[in-house]
Amino acid sequence: MPDSINVLALFAHPDDAEFLCAGTLAHLSRRGANIHMATLTAGDCGSTTLPATRIAAVRRKEAARSAALVGARYHCLNSKDLLIFYDQPHLNKVMELVRQTRPALVLTHAPVDYMVDHETVSRLCQSACFGAMAPNFKTGARRPAPALQGVPHLYYADAFGRRDILGNKIESALSVNISATLKLKEEMLACHDSQQAWLKTQQEIPEAVATMRKMAAEAGKRTGLRWAEGFRQHLGQGFPETNLLKQLLGSLVR
Ligand SMILES: [Zn+2]
Repeated sequence: MPDSINVLALFAHPDDAEFLCAGTLAHLSRRGANIHMATLTAGDCGSTTLPATRIAAVRRKEAARSAALVGARYHCLNSKDLLIFYDQPHLNKVMELVRQTRPALVLTHAPVDYMVDHETVSRLCQSACFGAMAPNFKTGARRPAPALQGVPHLYYADAFGRRDILGNKIESALSVNISATLKLKEEMLACHDSQQAWLKTQQEIPEAVATMRKMAAEAGKRTGLRWAEGFRQHLGQGFPETNLLKQLLGSLVR
């Protein structure tokens, strides 16, 4: 892999990437890619005991610590939980992040997922990748990055639970074998200490690492892998159709 390849993992909240694609990021990092991990929010609603500013500060640190484990730089775009909208201010900041980080490969949420924040980030990411080449789109940043030369390869991680909100199954199109990076993925997820109690009380999720392992085992079933992360590539008009993830990770991708 040429070491100049940049990868952007853009998700709604701290710990989403750890559940959905950290094993794949670890593989890419080990092959020399420059990894950027970004969240729209700092997870300000992720506590029943701490006020928003306190929990957000805690979660920024957790996310940065997790990103460092995979050699990634962490970016927070300072939106608020449940207030991520498809509007100009959000598109400006997502577009600016894409232009600043100049990724060849972008990973984000599935277009259909269990919560609207995730779905909105998916759409913002799609538009930002598509429009990052258009110099007439001005982000309003004080020091704007130049437009990209090409549209990045865009991949959607599995929806949480691999189901839509009506319970219909959503199948991945490709699976990345994460057996060799599962341990690092667990360590990254474990950085998000503050969420253990929250997941238990609010979402009745027993234990984050156990839940993640169950998701990774489920994602591997289609292709006979023990541990996997599932993705679908955005193949709409204007986007590159070559399977860059497969080119970068070879036989790890099925
Ligand atoms: Zn989330």
